[in-house]
Amino acid sequence: MPNGQILIEGQKIAAVGPTLQAPPNAQIIDAAGMVVMPGLINAHHHLYSSFARGFAAPGEPARNFVQILERVWWKLDLALDPEAVRYSSYVALLEAIHTGCTTIIDHHASPSCTDGSLDIIAETFREAGLSGCLCYETSDRNTPGDGLAENTRFIRQTQASRDGQITALFGLHAQMTLSDATLEATAQACAETNAGVHIHVAEDAADEEDCLAKHGSRIIQRLHKFGLTGPKSLFIHGIHLDESEMDLVAETGTMMVHNPESNMNNAVGTQKMLTLLKKGILLGLGTDGMTSHMISAARVAHLLQRATLADPRVAFVEACDMLLNKNAQIAARCFPEKRGQLVPGQLADIAIFDYVPTTPLEPGRFLGHMLYGLNYARVHTTIARGKILMRDSKVLTLDEQAICAKAHECARATWQRF
Ligand SMILES: [Zn+2]
Repeated sequence: MPNGQILIEGQKIAAVGPTLQAPPNAQIIDAAGMVVMPGLINAHHHLYSSFARGFAAPGEPARNFVQILERVWWKLDLALDPEAVRYSSYVALLEAIHTGCTTIIDHHASPSCTDGSLDIIAETFREAGLSGCLCYETSDRNTPGDGLAENTRFIRQTQASRDGQITALFGLHAQMTLSDATLEATAQACAETNAGVHIHVAEDAADEEDCLAKHGSRIIQRLHKFGLTGPKSLFIHGIHLDESEMDLVAETGTMMVHNPESNMNNAVGTQKMLTLLKKGILLGLGTDGMTSHMISAARVAHLLQRATLADPRVAFVEACDMLLNKNAQIAARCFPEKRGQLVPGQLADIAIFDYVPTTPLEPGRFLGHMLYGLNYARVHTTIARGKILMRDSKVLTLDEQAICAKAHECARATWQRF
């Protein structure tokens, strides 16, 4: 819509049109010459991974995915203390605000301070002003059942508060670090709280091999046996799913998330994104802790499919659709309020990009501008739940300078404990 206007009342969009009358005393944001978009949604993030930036694990470089987990991530998350949990979250939220992302579905792990860690992260979301769907990564890798209690407690707490800003899923690492007993306890907790699970599936071939060797079953069938599939559950990656598993994900209405940059970084293979979409699976996009930049995730998703399939015709529209529509549909299952479109009644989550198009920007030409122009553009203003979080690229809700100074200290201390 050229020359569009949006009226925000409270946390919601009240009206959208070319000729709105501003009510008296309305605060006016002049977005002339800018692109106004719905706030972006990240369907899978690990805020705690912020302190991996610039860090190199000592010793031989990991040669495969299991070694990456053992030599980097399972040591780094063990080194997090409550202060590191807080500041790694702050810096990722700052980056989200700067890139126009207003809703994050996060997957957290800090086994040295499991209990209460989700409260710390929830506090940072409230201060920043973003919406968050949180969970703790339950796993038997350090202590059997670590995370079961934290998830259950936090799910009950968010449900009791009836607060749409912070919601919860039941977090699980991946089937290869979860015993039958822990999955059974998870299934019971999910049944009691009516919650879905948020779990990595078949990220690497090693996860499928482990499942077949230990349980004589493929991953999705194992999770389905425990009742953990379904429309409320979010399955991440699924790179090595076979046909029967994809069909079971589709039949059960389970949601999935693609994280192309992370998959490339870990060299775990390419998700069959187009096949999953053709099967009718609700497939969204995430960053898996690599960055907080969602337009970049969509751009890489389409490039990766073209490179893998050696077909320059595919995946452009699909990647944009995943970012703009599928992620909004996933958010609608994880939060009470609708978001993701600039229409009356939806949450006033808005990103305003300072963007001077160098070719005509007209209806029908937007997606190319988004992936190849807005990708590099400065976000001028970010609004979430009707509140201005950032204006003229200055974050108003958090003290960016103080947080970054403290985050440097926390990151160094975390690296020393590694
Ligand atoms: Zn992940």
